[in-house]
Amino acid sequence: MGRVYLDERAVKFAAKKAREKVRRCVRGLDRDSVCEVVNELTVSFAGRPQWVARGLARYMLQTVKPLNLRVKAWLVEGVPMLGDRHASYLVWLDGDKYKCTCFTHAYGYVRQARICTHIAAVMFYRRQRLLGEEE
Ligand SMILES: [Zn+2]
Repeated sequence: MGRVYLDERAVKFAAKKAREKVRRCVRGLDRDSVCEVVNELTVSFAGRPQWVARGLARYMLQTVKPLNLRVKAWLVEGVPMLGDRHASYLVWLDGDKYKCTCFTHAYGYVRQARICTHIAAVMFYRRQRLLGEEE
């Protein structure tokens, strides 16, 4: 299987699907496990639905891989079309806070970010895993 997240059409399709899904969640048309994460993230991203949709698109493109379940770390493959400059990002849980290597990658200093769309993708991934909706 090729890397679907490097395919321009696949990324555009996922991004469109993700935007539609987020809209349905925000408007209360859908009320499922994905929408529960969307609602959580809408608060974290201070009401920027396009960021939530980008996180969902990353999840839909299957860019999230569990790295080490014991220490709770995940590898998120970079998607150039979504603005990533690195091939992959490491997301991990530090206590109850998610951290991502993109916090430090950006310009060589630690960004003040508390969340990013890589973390959002991991949150969608973990929620679906919890529900047994993934293999
Ligand atoms: Zn990140």
